[in-house]
Amino acid sequence: MVATIIDGKAFAATVRGKVAGHVARLKADHGIIPGLAVVLVGEDPASQVYVRSKGKMTVEVGMNSYEHKLEADTSEADLLALIDQLNTDPEVHGILVQLPLPGHLNEALVINAIDPAKDVDGFHISNVGLLATGQKAMVPCTPLGCLMMLRDHLGSLSGLNAVVIGRSNIVGKPMAQLLLGDSCTVTIAHSRTKDILAVSRRADIVVAAVGRPQMVTGDWIKPGATVIDVGINRIDAPEKGEGKTRLVGDCDFDSCAEVAGAITPVPGGVGPMTIACLLANTVTACSRAHGLAEPE
Ligand code: NDP
Repeated sequence: MVATIIDGKAFAATVRGKVAGHVARLKADHGIIPGLAVVLVGEDPASQVYVRSKGKMTVEVGMNSYEHKLEADTSEADLLALIDQLNTDPEVHGILVQLPLPGHLNEALVINAIDPAKDVDGFHISNVGLLATGQKAMVPCTPLGCLMMLRDHLGSLSGLNAVVIGRSNIVGKPMAQLLLGDSCTVTIAHSRTKDILAVSRRADIVVAAVGRPQMVTGDWIKPGATVIDVGINRIDAPEKGEGKTRLVGDCDFDSCAEVAGAITPVPGGVGPMTIACLLANTVTACSRAHGLAEPE
């Protein structure tokens, strides 16, 4: 293996440490405790795990965590009423509605009901527009975590060729905007891209956010490129025993690591950074709400 492993778990711990320091200062100097409200509708098992882990880490950095668990058949009106209440609650600085929502709820309508200043996921149309036009926005946590790791590893990204594989609103598109903001030359590849292998091989930076296990193999990677693997996929792992599974990314780690200069592992790469950035966004939202200096 030639690639350096980018340790997202360790980096995330550093970010959470900085958040905890800022939270402690807000409390000591101003008597303010940042609060994050997480809304979960229904019983999706993966969402339940994410929400639990977000709540635990929120408390660990000294913030208040408010969990709102609603029945799967909650009406849109009831969900909007809760969001309204959280929007006006001065103890709540960040609001996150865990996606996906059950099919009868209009996701765009619900997300756009969140006060943009409390939209710590950065999915509100105002924040999307602010990011796209290079203005101060709440930035989606997963791409923000990817950008932080890239800056930490590479320093300046200016002029580098970046290929983002995937064009979702929550990862691919905001990732591309952030890389453009850092003066990369950005290509967004997707399921209709012609000769995607050649497109990917031009990249100094490859961000894979596809949702297809181990799709990106070593032959997609330019020697020395930096690979950020956003994917989280569970696959069968008969080698661990019957019925066992394991998590893999959208990149085939072993073959990519033979060629890349650096790569994030799955698990332990982008995932931990996503939650760390959520906490950082909540402190930022709290600081802005009180007109105080924002964390760096
Ligand atoms: P989506 O399913 O919303 O988007 C997937 C994108 O990949 C689409 O734009 C799609 O293209 C593209 N795509 C699908 N198949 C191919 C293909 N064969 N070749 C090229 N492009 C393809 O996924 P998300 O963006 O929500 O998530 C992507 C991955 O990241 C998932 O594995 C998810 O679990 C993970 N994830 C991880 C997070 C973390 O914290 N680490 C957070 C969020 C997501 P098209 O638009 O043409 O259909």
